[in-house]
Parts: sequence; C-alpha cells; structure tokens
Amino acid sequence: MPDTPSEPDDQSEECEQCGLCCRIFGNSVTPTVLNLYTWLEQGRTDILRYFFAAEDDGAWVNCADLTPEDLGAVIRIEMRDPVTGEYLTVCPFLKRHGKETYLCSIHPVRPDMCRNYQPWIWGETYFGQCKSLKKRRNQYAWRHVCE
Ligand code: SF4
Ligand code: SF4
Repeated sequence: MPDTPSEPDDQSEECEQCGLCCRIFGNSVTPTVLNLYTWLEQGRTDILRYFFAAEDDGAWVNCADLTPEDLGAVIRIEMRDPVTGEYLTVCPFLKRHGKETYLCSIHPVRPDMCRNYQPWIWGETYFGQCKSLKKRRNQYAWRHVCE
C-alpha cells in the first residue's frame, strides 16, 4: 500500500506508490478492533466515521459513535459511506499525489490489513499487478540472465 514520503518505513523502499492495490481492494479494507481502539483514543472520528460495526446484539453502529467500552461487543466491521451507510467503491483515504502516484492520507494509523500488505513478497499476499512485484521479478530475471 502507498506510503507517504514523510513516513518512511519498511515498505517505503519497496512500494512504488502506484495505488493500484488500494484502488482495487481499498473499498473492502477491514480494520481490527485494536485499530478502532487506537482511533478512538486519538479522537480520529474522521477515520472512524467511514466504518460501521455490528455488535453481538445484531445492531449496526457507526464507529464514530462507539466508546472503548463498546469494543468487546463488536463482531464485524465494514467500510461504508458515513452519510448513506452504503458500501463504498473506493477507499476514501486514498489520495492522488502525482500523475501516476497515490498516497494514503492516514498512513501513520492505517489499518493493520494495509500495514501488513506486501504483495512483492512472493507467496505472501500475491497480487500480480503490483508494480513493486513486477520490478522485483524483472530484477530477478535479469540477475539470472547475467549469471
Ligand atoms: S487505508 Fe490507505 S493503505 Fe489502506 S486501502 Fe485505503 S489508501 Fe490504501
Ligand atoms: S500495487 Fe504494489 S506498488 Fe502499487 S501501491 Fe500497491 S503495494 Fe505499492
């Protein structure tokens, strides 16, 4: 998933920030309950409002209306439009940065699912269209040609 230049981490060396994975899969990102807790602690209602939680009594609640004490009852979390409650077609946190680059506007606190996504690692989270994976494949192929 795309990194912001101001927040380099392990992924920044690999991710080419093409945004393709976010554009294709970003609308079905599911945060963990711990992600919700972090956002609640930090007052990040700007993020929380894009998620709805099903509680063990069957009720759906906008995550911005949860308290940390409610989290034990959460059994399912879905990304939705905060106003209509409809499913989204794109991740609302993905921002275009350049002609062909995208950034995650919540990068430092992005969901674990995004944080752990590294499609350039063969066999782990395979996504054949990942620009970094293609680059790594080409480097591997050239190494073998040169050897
Ligand atoms: S939250 Fe960030 S990293 Fe995750 S899909 Fe959206 S833009 Fe991509
Ligand atoms: S598809 Fe690959 S290179 Fe493109 S943003 Fe996702 S992880 Fe980065």
